[in-house]
Amino acid sequence: MARNEQLFERAKNIIPGGVNSPVRAFGSVGGIPRFIRRAEGAFVWDEDGTRYTDYVGSWGPAIVGHAHPEVIAAVQEAAAGGLSFGAPTEGEIIIAETIAKLLPSVERLRLVSSGTEATMSAIRLARGYTGRDKIVKFEGCYHGHSDSLLVKAGSGLLTFGNPSSAGVPSDFIRHTAVLPYNDTTALAQYFAEQGTETACVILEPIAGNMNLVQPSAEFIHTLRRLTEEHGVVLIYDEVMTGFRVALGGAQSLHGIRPDLTTMGKVIGGGMPLAAFGGKKEIMDCISPLGGVYQAGTLSGNPVAVAAGLKTLEIIQRQGFYENLSTLSQRLCQGLSAAAKAAGVPFCADWVGGMFGLYFADHIPHSYADMTASNTEAFKRFFHGMLARGIAFGPSAYEACFMSAAHTPELIDNTIAAAQEVFSEMAAA
Ligand SMILES: *Cc1c(COP(=O)(O)O)cnc(C)c1O
Repeated sequence: MARNEQLFERAKNIIPGGVNSPVRAFGSVGGIPRFIRRAEGAFVWDEDGTRYTDYVGSWGPAIVGHAHPEVIAAVQEAAAGGLSFGAPTEGEIIIAETIAKLLPSVERLRLVSSGTEATMSAIRLARGYTGRDKIVKFEGCYHGHSDSLLVKAGSGLLTFGNPSSAGVPSDFIRHTAVLPYNDTTALAQYFAEQGTETACVILEPIAGNMNLVQPSAEFIHTLRRLTEEHGVVLIYDEVMTGFRVALGGAQSLHGIRPDLTTMGKVIGGGMPLAAFGGKKEIMDCISPLGGVYQAGTLSGNPVAVAAGLKTLEIIQRQGFYENLSTLSQRLCQGLSAAAKAAGVPFCADWVGGMFGLYFADHIPHSYADMTASNTEAFKRFFHGMLARGIAFGPSAYEACFMSAAHTPELIDNTIAAAQEVFSEMAAA
């Protein structure tokens, strides 16, 4: 631990909290964050040379495993041809066409560099298209850190006990309504009162920033019907779920055609790449065709596009998602059985390559459910597993991620380690 500790001390003298994204600081679990030197397949190694089986996967992007040789080769080849041109490239067309083929709701698409940019731009576009100001989000859903969306926004803020953010003028969030997730009655009531003044509803179609929380079919279908009836743009924020829960995203599992979709994480394969897209009629309101401004010096960066394209190629291979889902299932069922045997209240849930671990009696359906789970138990589990070389996200409110580089054997090792940790927890 010596070098991790030294680096953390040094980092704190120059980077606020020692990190460039808050949850990395281990604030909610305590202890020293591991500084990563390198990663390969299902593993990361820290600066002290300790190897961890990694269920963070860079928070989702590493779906084909870290440093996949084909992705690295594609990146190296692209990099050798120049890092950025500020002019259009063929790769951008190919990746846009590929995404549109996988997500039929996407008729037009624009590339950006982060999920935050994608959601911020989609909201602006929805407002420009409808000429309305009000927007709706759901409690515990995170859509990046743009001002109007930082209200009751899930993990990062939850972890720090801070439901919204300082520095956001109340004027900015005056137009943001926050409704409870999975509450169809609250939704219907909102639409009856304010539906026709509302520009858009933005939703994590499978929530992954208050840990994993699945929506009910009733909630999802009522939302689509009400948005349609009131001329409200429905935005599926699939930055996490896109190409993660299924090849066609959560929308393919739900049988829903959203008006706009935001994507990120997996589509960049670990490089800064994100996108928003959807109905032609709406997307054509963006500059230079329409009056909604949106731009980016590094948008569609050729090296990021190369990483994304290769990743999208790999995930389309035969049996990719069946395998990922089988691995997630094996881990969730194994952990649940181990906890039950030890008498520790615990449950788990998964969709494709994404899963949630809950120190609770039942799988949560809302933010209120989730915040009622036992975060002290999570802390003990987290550190017990980390000490055994297994890394989960350092917060009870984060979802976890499986990659194609994980094997049944690695998962069984994880379950065996958890048996020890659960026994220690039961004894304590
Ligand atoms: C990660 C995430 C974002 C933000 O993406 P960044 O690339 O971190 O800006 C937005 N929405 C969802 C659902 C996310 O999981």
